[in-house]
Amino acid sequence: MTSPTFASLGLAEPILRALAKQGFEIPTPIQAGTIPKLLAGHDVLGVAQTGTGKTAAFALPILQHLAAAQRRPRPFSTSCLILAPTRELALQIDAHIRGFANGQPISTCVILGGVGRRPQEERMRRGPDIVVGTPGRIRDLMGTKHLRLDQATHFVLDEADRMLDLGFIRDIRHIVAALPAQRQSMLFSATMPAEVSQLANSFLRDPLRVEVTPEVRTPEKIEQQVHFVDTSGKRALLVRLLEDPGLARVIVFTRTKHGANKVADHLTAAQVSTEALHGNKSQPAREKSLDRFRSGRARVLVATDIASRGIDVTGISHVINFDLPVEPESYVHRIGRTARAGAGGIAISFCDQSERAALRAIERVNGVTLRPVGHVPPDSGAANRPGRPAQQQQNRRRFQPRRPMRAAA
Ligand code: AMP
Repeated sequence: MTSPTFASLGLAEPILRALAKQGFEIPTPIQAGTIPKLLAGHDVLGVAQTGTGKTAAFALPILQHLAAAQRRPRPFSTSCLILAPTRELALQIDAHIRGFANGQPISTCVILGGVGRRPQEERMRRGPDIVVGTPGRIRDLMGTKHLRLDQATHFVLDEADRMLDLGFIRDIRHIVAALPAQRQSMLFSATMPAEVSQLANSFLRDPLRVEVTPEVRTPEKIEQQVHFVDTSGKRALLVRLLEDPGLARVIVFTRTKHGANKVADHLTAAQVSTEALHGNKSQPAREKSLDRFRSGRARVLVATDIASRGIDVTGISHVINFDLPVEPESYVHRIGRTARAGAGGIAISFCDQSERAALRAIERVNGVTLRPVGHVPPDSGAANRPGRPAQQQQNRRRFQPRRPMRAAA
C-alpha cells in the first residue's frame, strides 16, 4: 500500500500550496487518520499529544470547510471556536492556522486571559472566522456579549486532560451549552481518563476515535531500577538518594498535586533546592518554577504527569517515580524525559506494597524489566531476579515502544 499524500486525503489546492511552502510533505499518522473523516463532516476523538501533528489534523479540514462556505460571521460572532488550556498553546495554534491559511481570506482572533480585554473586544467586533482562546476569558467575553457562539459551525477542545487538570470543566460545560446543536466537534487529549471520556461523550456525536502513541526517544539508554519501600519510608529514601551529587538534575513524579507539594516541602526542609509543578499553580508561578529548574537554581522538579507534559528540559540525569503511574503507558513517557538527545539516564521507581500490581502491569505492557536495588521483599515477585548488569542488558534488548498507531471507525 502506498503512503497517503495530503492531496490523497482530499485537501484542496490552496491548502496543498501552503503545506508545500511549510515543508510538510507526508501526513503524520493522526493527519492521515483524521483529515478524510473531518472533511466528510464526522466528529473526532483524538488521543494524541503535542508533537504528533494534531494541530494540522484539525485545522486543515476546518480551513477547507470555511473557505468553501464563504460565510462572513456577524460582528461579535465566529464560525469556529478552538479552546486550548494555556496561553502558549493558544498562540501556537493561531500561528499554525495563519500559516496554513496563507493567502486565503480567513481571519483569526486570539482571546486570552492575563492581558487587556479591550483590544480583544475590538477584534471581535469584526466577526473573525476562527477564535482561538483559553476557557476563562472566552467565557468572560460571552458574558458581556462580545463573543456569541450561535453561528459556530466548528468546535475544537484541545488537550482536554490538561483542561480538566487546570480546573476548566465548568467553563467548558458553559461554553459547550452555548454552541448550536448543528456543528462539527473535535476533542483531543493525550490521555483518556474517565472524566475526559465522560466529557467527550457529552458533546461529540458518534465520533471517530483515532489514537496515536508517539515513539519514546532513546529508552534503550535508560537504566531502570526499582526500590521496594514502605509508603512511609519513601520520603526518607528520596532524601538519602539525593545525598549523591550524581543526581544532578532530577524530576520526581508524584500521582497527585497534593503529593507533589508534600514531597517538595519535605525536600526543601531537607535543604534540597526544589520546585513543584502542577495544575493548581498559576501560569506565571509554573513558568517561574520551570525557569528555576532549567537554569539549575533548583536541582529537583517535583511534578504530576500532566503538568510535566510538553516541558523539554535537557540534561535530566535522573527520573524518580515517587509514585508509580496508574496508567502503565505513562511510565515510558516519564522515563523518556531523561536520556534525551542520545545521552544516558537513570530511572528509579519506588514501589510500595500497594503498587506491586502496577509494577507488574508496567513491566508487562511496556516489555521492560526493572532492576531491583536494595532490599527485595520475598513476596514482591522480583526475588528471583537480583539486579545484575546482565539483567540491564536484557532491559535494553526487550524495550519496544508499543502500538505506533490505532484508528478505528
Ligand atoms: P503539533 O503536534 O500540531 O504541535 O505539531 C508538531 C510539529 O510538527 C509542528 O512544528 C508542526 O509544524 C510539525 N508538523 C506537523 N505535521 C507535519 C507534517 N506532516 N510534516 C512535517 N512537519 C509537521
